[in-house]
Amino acid sequence: MTHGFVESWGRMGRWPHELSYLTDRSVPLTSFGQDVMALAYGNGRSYGDVCLNSDGGLWLTTGLNKFISFNQDTGCISCESGVLLKDIQSLAIPRGWILPVTPGTQLLTVGGAIANDIHGKNHHEKGSFGNHVKRIKLLKTDGSSTQCSRDLEPELFSATIGGLGLTGVIVEVDIQLARVSGPWLETEIIPYTGIAEFLSLADSSEKSWEYTVSWIDCLSGKSARGIFMRANHSHNNYGDTPGQRELKMPLTPPFSLVNKLTLKPFNYLYRRLQESKAGAHYAHYVSFFYPLDNLAGWNKMYGPRGFYQYQSVVPRHLGAEAVEVMLDEISRSGIGSFLAVLKTFGSPKPLGMLSFPEPGLTLALDFPNQGDKTLKLFDRLDVIVREAGGRLYPAKDARMSRSMFEAGYPRLNEFLAYRDAGISSAFSRRVMGY
Ligand SMILES: Cc1cc2nc3c(=O)[nH]c(=O)nc-3n(C[C@H](O)[C@H](O)[C@H](O)COP(=O)(O)OP(=O)(O)OC[C@H]3O[C@@H](n4cnc5c(N)ncnc54)[C@H](O)[C@@H]3O)c2cc1C
Repeated sequence: MTHGFVESWGRMGRWPHELSYLTDRSVPLTSFGQDVMALAYGNGRSYGDVCLNSDGGLWLTTGLNKFISFNQDTGCISCESGVLLKDIQSLAIPRGWILPVTPGTQLLTVGGAIANDIHGKNHHEKGSFGNHVKRIKLLKTDGSSTQCSRDLEPELFSATIGGLGLTGVIVEVDIQLARVSGPWLETEIIPYTGIAEFLSLADSSEKSWEYTVSWIDCLSGKSARGIFMRANHSHNNYGDTPGQRELKMPLTPPFSLVNKLTLKPFNYLYRRLQESKAGAHYAHYVSFFYPLDNLAGWNKMYGPRGFYQYQSVVPRHLGAEAVEVMLDEISRSGIGSFLAVLKTFGSPKPLGMLSFPEPGLTLALDFPNQGDKTLKLFDRLDVIVREAGGRLYPAKDARMSRSMFEAGYPRLNEFLAYRDAGISSAFSRRVMGY
């Protein structure tokens, strides 16, 4: 066991932790000592404090990185929980299988994907990650281990999917992959203006396009200028996998590169560039799904104070108006970033008691940390989300209040019965009290 400073993707602080490196899934969990609560840490791709446990213990899981089996006829893969989604994609896609749900980065662990029940650009078709998990093996802090699935201990299974690491440490997983013909996608880029036009594009696209997503100019207010993107897997082979030229943010600039001076021109240029590309294209899965993974350490561009992401979902019937009001509020505040995404969630029901997705509109924006000014804006956005009956995404959160969490997650009390008494996180202490 060692001592070290650990941060999350938003880089809001490096916090002291006791660290234990897990490498053997059959060994019971190590105790950090009496009264020391601990938490599993995947690859730290959560933006806020859901993966942090200041002054407590962290079980680091990326050493649990072995594949156990892969049935190429059925597409069922078994692996340890620290395997990265990138490694599954690299193994499976050349063999005709793909992860059915994948987020905007492939540099996260399977355990982290389950604990936040992550979603991708195809929620309307495939639901969230947990919908494709067949079995989980969990280690508990009392030294026991247990298996769960839809049939075996289904309540524990449902608490663990989207369970924020609080029900035990996931060490082993079976996942059902989806068939795919190759690494290429047929894509289309369509500029839009207004939430009504966005919704009409989303509705018409979801019938025949597996992936839909849009970038939105966070300064455009109620007029909501954006770029809609849709894609399907292609049967065509457009050649060799393009070489990846890995770029790296060399250092942390002394101030955020995203600021009042840069935001407007950045947004303008990005929109004009995308508008000039309107129409049909093809894309490799890496550049379509994970455009930011090629710039290692891009999170440093927000400077030493780090950044927040604010991701909400609001139900469909009130969503359009709520998103317009939020965009108006953000545009008037003059803060935000060019990393702003608007998309829809469809009807597939998540399995997790605390899963984030629900049918509606989800808006996600990065904000440089400007202290009180940023937090006050979030308070105003919270009111809009809450009045619309929506909720915030724990994976992206570093500041939501307990009452906001309770209002958004009505199955919280049911979930609490499945918490492991030896596990706690900075997030759980803030929104659950322990
Ligand atoms: C560029 C970028 C794009 C993203 N895009 C999306 C997106 O499109 N959709 C989306 O849903 N999310 C997205 N995310 C968020 C990301 O997918 C989640 O935060 C994910 O949970 C991170 O996984 P991780 O392995 O890094 O886990 P961590 O961030 O280290 O941990 C996340 C949670 O999982 C728990 N955990 C980790 N491993 C285990 C384990 N073995 N057992 C039990 N609990 C465990 C932790 O305790 C913590 O609660 C994005 C993040 C980034 C940086």
